Amino acid sequence: MARTRIALVGIGKIALDQHVPALNASPDWELAATISRSGKVDGIPSYTDFATFLTERPDIPAVSLCMPPVPRYAYAEAALNAGRHVMLEKPPGATLAEVHALQALAKSRGLTLYATWHSRMAHAVAPAKAWLADKTVQKAHITWREDVRKWHPGQDWVFQPGGMGVFDPGINALSILTEILPQPVHLTKALLEFPENRQTPIAAQLTFSGNVSADFDWRQEGPQTWDITVITDKGELALRMGGNVLEIDGKPFAGENTIMGEHPALYARMATLVAQGHSDVDLAPMVHVADALTLGERRITGAFDF
Ligand code: NAP
Repeated sequence: MARTRIALVGIGKIALDQHVPALNASPDWELAATISRSGKVDGIPSYTDFATFLTERPDIPAVSLCMPPVPRYAYAEAALNAGRHVMLEKPPGATLAEVHALQALAKSRGLTLYATWHSRMAHAVAPAKAWLADKTVQKAHITWREDVRKWHPGQDWVFQPGGMGVFDPGINALSILTEILPQPVHLTKALLEFPENRQTPIAAQLTFSGNVSADFDWRQEGPQTWDITVITDKGELALRMGGNVLEIDGKPFAGENTIMGEHPALYARMATLVAQGHSDVDLAPMVHVADALTLGERRITGAFDF
């Protein structure tokens, strides 16, 4: 069967690390164009202006938006108004309201809008959700500690308004939490650490209902930690390596220690959504971030520079 054409917008770190390999291997999609002010992909027609692309390439019915969240809304709105299906990198936008607006626009136009959460596609998330389904959660804790210099080298946008700071990776943990817990939780307390020269937090400690807590920190050098532990009435679950490896009661249970399957799974889901005429926009992870930024106590910490 012929693959459907798709364009990739915002050719930077995640586009090159994950989207291009996923599309090259996709049975569903053909990478038919890129739109980026300076980035390109060898051998693929490229545009620097999105309006020009939309006018000149009516043969490409879908776009995948990989730029940072703040500029993303204008691109998504223009794409939907031009009759294209839209896939959004995480987090789906800079604000909840703008994503609600995109949802309404996609619905009114009969187009697919997919707000992706790549960490939900990690190998062990589905088995973790299945294991927890008939258990009572007594306690859960997230430890998401990584080195911002390694994962976001020189990306000042993460520390600018709307960049979300440590919630840019932390929202990945929250996307897993909101997927696997059998009951929803809500934020009750947060402590946010802001570098004195930055607009977004570099660390956050979160407390939720249901004895659930989270520790996000962007200052961890050396070994990186992306773990979620859940204590239940019938045993203890540990999701490690960003949701890719699952242990039950300290023993390996499921998973594979690689993130390379996450974006291929997102493109497979996008193909299904378009074929079925559906959208998928779950804002639960972003609600927790918005609540933390609303409720959180703010502490000023030392200056941060890349
Ligand atoms: P990035 O490399 O800094 O940005 C991607 C590209 O977006 C840039 O190369 C730039 O391309 C374009 N762009 C930047 N600012 C723009 C603006 N104001 N208007 C239009 N285009 C702009 O960022 P990234 O790391 O790829 O992250 C992008 C998104 O993917 C974020 O939402 C992030 O949370 C998510 N993500 C990142 C990672 C990761 O490991 N970095 C992992 C998973 C998800 P041009 O200058 O060529 O236009």
